[in-house]
Amino acid sequence: MNYRIRRFMEGRYGGDHLSVALIILSVLLTFAGSVSKLISLTLLSYIPMGIVVCRMFSRNIAKRQRENYKFYMLMRPVYMYYNRIKNRLRDSRTHRIFRCPDCKAKLRVPKGKGKIAITCSVCRTEFIRKT
Ligand SMILES: [Zn+2]
Repeated sequence: MNYRIRRFMEGRYGGDHLSVALIILSVLLTFAGSVSKLISLTLLSYIPMGIVVCRMFSRNIAKRQRENYKFYMLMRPVYMYYNRIKNRLRDSRTHRIFRCPDCKAKLRVPKGKGKIAITCSVCRTEFIRKT
């Protein structure tokens, strides 16, 4: 980075996740504005962009970090949902889920073991399944 830019950014907040999200929101609004030909949406897209610029050059770093943290807490269910789906997809290659015939508990069993006896971890019922 250029020395003068670095000097200018010294003690300023810079970018974070919230800024990235706001930029995406702005791009989406610009896109929606051009597709729908609604000038109001295009104008609206300047608002998140303006916030990003103000936050990046802000010297109140503690306040910006709090905002970013609040945003993270707000988005946490979304992240968690996304991670759960991702893990389940990765898991489906190596494991299979069986339901206990007795108590209906979900049991996770490694794939490719042929016919095996599975013992339910909840009610100890044993049943045979092909994995
Ligand atoms: Zn069971």
